[in-house]
Formats: sequence, structure tokens, C-alpha cells
Amino acid sequence: MLKLYGYSLTFILILNFPNKKCKNIKSNLIGLMKMKKLEEDMSNWNGNFPPKTFADGVCHLIGSLGNVGIVDTDEGLVIFDIGTKGQERPIYRELRKFSKKPVKYIIYSHGHFDHCFGYAPIIKEIKRKGWDMPEVIAHENLPRRFEKYRMLDKYHSWLNSRQSAPQIADQVGDRLIVSAHETLDPTILLRGNESSYEFKLGQYTFEIYHDKGETDDSLWMWLPEKKVLFSGELVSNPTFPNAGNPNKVQRYPKQWAIAMEKMLEKKADYLLPGHGQLVEGKDDVREILSIRAEVMHFIHDEVVKRMNEGKYFEQIYHELLEIRPEKFKNHKFLSDSYGCYRFVIHCAYRLYHGWYNTGNPTDLFPAKSLDIANEFITLIDESEFVNRAKKLYDGGKIQLALHLLDVLIKSSKVKSEDTLLNACILKENILSQMADEEINYMARNAYIYGTIQMRKKIEQIKAKSN
Ligand SMILES: [Zn+2]
Repeated sequence: MLKLYGYSLTFILILNFPNKKCKNIKSNLIGLMKMKKLEEDMSNWNGNFPPKTFADGVCHLIGSLGNVGIVDTDEGLVIFDIGTKGQERPIYRELRKFSKKPVKYIIYSHGHFDHCFGYAPIIKEIKRKGWDMPEVIAHENLPRRFEKYRMLDKYHSWLNSRQSAPQIADQVGDRLIVSAHETLDPTILLRGNESSYEFKLGQYTFEIYHDKGETDDSLWMWLPEKKVLFSGELVSNPTFPNAGNPNKVQRYPKQWAIAMEKMLEKKADYLLPGHGQLVEGKDDVREILSIRAEVMHFIHDEVVKRMNEGKYFEQIYHELLEIRPEKFKNHKFLSDSYGCYRFVIHCAYRLYHGWYNTGNPTDLFPAKSLDIANEFITLIDESEFVNRAKKLYDGGKIQLALHLLDVLIKSSKVKSEDTLLNACILKENILSQMADEEINYMARNAYIYGTIQMRKKIEQIKAKSN
């Protein structure tokens, strides 16, 4: 098993985070069960499983943060994704346990940090042994992505640390963990929307296809002689498609469904996903592809239908939650742990709509939330906000309780330090409970980050009043 690094290491910290303020034993139990499922799924997502050889010994999977696929031909190795920087040495060691042959081709499934930055030991070896440099295949949008990363490198570090490592996010800040200033650049580019590329090495044929899904530079590979699909991030096992991640740019839900249907036509025996364990057997490969196609079509089409009915986001979102079909809940290949149903609703809406989400002119150019909060505080006795929030909390309406508490917490005109302190303590308690009960990794980390911020504020208030 690979030694973990970077985000994976911080992920372990996150899962061991002690949220002790669960409201009661039932809440604790629910929290523990959900946490166990989340832990299991994310452990798979992070590649914490042994390397695997399959397809008559021809293919290998090295699990890492971004799976690495290897095809062993008579004339050398083809590598589909090379993992992240920080895991490059263990990946290389595992690779060399499988085969000593030179690496002839590297294919990037897309340009994310966890899929194409673990190349250094392979390139070092090639130079040391005087071998030819490999061909590196990518879609034409990948170099543009690298360019964007160079422009936004500190921002991405800041954002990713909050998304994946909330406990240490404030210490990491904008320090670079992986940088696109050093890259192994493609030598062969697939251009256009409908592009495909084919090459032969040794006794095998490699068919490369481009489709949009999580990104606009996605490639996937088909090895017909062994009936193996290499999906990249278009499939992660067993988590929901990562479309609508609250921290990231636009994804492509409709095209994602279409990509799944194109893969289904291949009738593969194996599917090597971008994250998670190998999918083996015709039935499971068909199931993981077809359920993903179905759910992405469903959410996209239901959102579009409601947009055509003149509905704004809030209404669409809550209606989509109400009509979520049973077959998408608790499906073995649609775990909400990383991507999730709720996020994809945002994704489909955002694909076609601007930022004026409510249609209420009040929201077009709103006042500062501080000023709004101050107005409420001058109208209503400030302690009433905490009293009412406690009642809502006791009645299980914790999201509503948060909205009320925020009026107090955002305001600069709260007179009683005790009232403010009580509001912060209740918010911290609620966020902690939400983190315990949340099945989605990104939402959970947002709650954890919020809990940490509340604890800091509580300490500041206490220090001030001492
Ligand atoms: Zn990935």
C-alpha cells in the first residue's frame, strides 16, 4: 500500500477530528455510521488499496490520489495518468515491481493535480538510461488548464486546503502544495470536441476518446484486445460524479451522461476508474456506467424543464430534492461521499443561468450583510435571536437556527457580550453536529472549517471579557 502524502494525510486528520458535541446518543450513532461510510469511500478515493494486476497480467492498477493505469506491451509500457506530486516515488516503486520496460506513452485523462504531476522519477530514469522520451497525449484544453493554474496557483492552494484539510487550512494558506510551474507537457494533442486518436504499441491497440464531463479536457482510453476501459475522472468508484462541487468551476452534466453511453457501447470486462477500486465484470461495468448516465440525464433534464417553466434556483433545487428517485439513493455506485445529488442540481442550473439566482430585485445588488444584521438588531431585542434559535435547534430545525444566529454574529451592534458568546457557542455546536451527520466530504469539511472559525471567535470574546 502506498504511503500517503499531502491531501491524503490531511484527510486522515479530518476523519479523526473529534466532534464531541453531538446533541444526543442517537445523533452520535448516526454520525458514526455516516462517518464510517464516508471514511471507507474516501479511503478508496485516495487509493488506499493494494496495487492490482488484471486482464491476463497485461494491465495494472496502482491506487493513489488519482489512479495510475499501466498496460504492459512487448514494446514497452503505456501509462494512463501518473498520479500526483508527493506520491511519485511510491508510484514509481510499484510500477517497477510490475515491469522494467521503458515507458513509451503517458496519457493524461485530464489536467487536474492528482492525475499528471507524479512523473519525475520516470523522467529521471529515462534520462539516466538514455531511453527515448515518451509521447505524452492530452486534449488541447489541457495546456490551457496548466496556464490557468499558473495564473491562479496561490488561489488554488488556498481553496484546496479549505476543501480538503480544514483543520490546517489557515496554516497552509496559499503555500503551494502542487504547482503547475513544472509540468511534463503533452507532445500529442487531441483537438476539437469529437476527437479520437489511435495508436498501436506491441500487440495492442489504444483508442483514445475526448468527452466533456468533470472537465473540458477529459480523455478516456479503450484497450479492445483486453476489453479494458480507462475512464479517468469520468468514473470514480463508488462516488457520485463530481459535478457541482461548491468550490470549483463549471462541469458538464449532459455531456457526462453521453460519455457514459459511449463507454457502454464498448461492453468492457474491466473499468479502471480515476479514483477507487477496479470495476470488474461486464455486469458491474455496465451498472456503474448506466446509473451514472441515468442520474446525470435525470438531473440535467429536470432542471432544464423547470427553467423552461420560468422557475428560479430555490424552487428548482427543492423540487429536485423532492422528486429524487429511490433508485439513485444508496446505490452501490452512487455514493454521495465526494460528488453528490445536491451539487449536480447547482451544476445543471449554473450551466445555463447567470448569477441572479432569485429573481428578487433586492438580491441584485444587496447591501452588506453587516448593515442588514445591524438593522435587525436595532429592531428586535438581541437575546430573542438566541432564544428562538435554541427553540429551533431543539425542534430539529438547525438550518433555520443558523440563519437566525448569523444576524447576531454578523452584527457589530450587539450590546451584550454574553448574548454574542451564547450565539457563537450554539452555532459552533450546530456546525459540529452537521459535520458529524454530513455524508458528503466537501460539505462536511465546510462545516468543520466553520466550527474552527467559531471556536476562534469564542476564544476572542472570552479573552476580551476577561
Ligand atoms: Zn482526480
